[in-house]
Amino acid sequence: MYINLHTHSVFSDGILGIKELISEAKKRNVIYLSITDHDTVNGYRDLNSELNGIHIINGVEISTRNHDYLHILGYGIDVFSSSLEVKLKLWRERRLERVSQIIDKLKKIGIDISLDDLDVSLLTTIGRPHIADVLVKRGYGSTRNDVFYKYLVEGKPAYVSPMGPDLKEAIETIKDAGGFTILAHPGSIEGAFDIEELVRNFDGIEVFYPAHTSSMIKRYLSIAKKYNLIVTAGTDYHGPGTTRDLMDYYIFDKEELLNIERVINGR
Ligand code: AMP
Ligand code: ZN
Ligand code: FE
Ligand code: FE
Repeated sequence: MYINLHTHSVFSDGILGIKELISEAKKRNVIYLSITDHDTVNGYRDLNSELNGIHIINGVEISTRNHDYLHILGYGIDVFSSSLEVKLKLWRERRLERVSQIIDKLKKIGIDISLDDLDVSLLTTIGRPHIADVLVKRGYGSTRNDVFYKYLVEGKPAYVSPMGPDLKEAIETIKDAGGFTILAHPGSIEGAFDIEELVRNFDGIEVFYPAHTSSMIKRYLSIAKKYNLIVTAGTDYHGPGTTRDLMDYYIFDKEELLNIERVINGR
């Protein structure tokens, strides 16, 4: 039996709908699942009660402007909070601005795509992966990852800095919506931040994550013990064929997932 508290659907840059995502999780024996789309909880409107056997934990992943990979997971939030939606909507609009600037930069290097080419709806959180998918389709690379490193990451010709909230505002927003704040994939910001220092602003830390090495995991676990943090596990699942397609990664282990009952049972 697995736990996976970090997944994305078509409501952001995942490729599965909510129903498909849940049925994939069930097929892979995930018993605790959170759908953590970027800057949106719109997916939770599509949830119905046909969930027997799987426990869904409300979630969201907020991208900060501090760093491309400083992301905050919020669990147990009230997904129907209107003040939460006001903020998320604003950040989604800023993402549209960022994507437009990226498209302008691509034009300057002779790659002509438009907003209309992107596979998104009004409800969807737009991001670089949507641009990457078009670039792959047009033959500019073989995978999302490939075109990211050619064009879309810092130092590459079409890079634009993130425009989301700063760390403090993101944390306050999750708390105001009644949620727990978890530092997402700390391994991705090693070197840019002192993790032990940073994580003291949070309720917990995503210790188990596919890209984390065993020495990272050991260190994050000891930091979590020291500050009595919540320990979570998630894969950043984006769907089959996305290069982030692992669902059944972490076998549920309550002893190792320190304080996890706070997330599973709510406050
Ligand atoms: P954005 O939200 O526009 O900054 O894009 C970040 C999103 O792109 C995150 O959801 C990541 O899952 C995805 N992403 C980041 N780096 C890569 C990469 N190298 N290859 C594929 N997807 C990536
Ligand atoms: Zn994503
Ligand atoms: Fe993330
Ligand atoms: Fe993610």
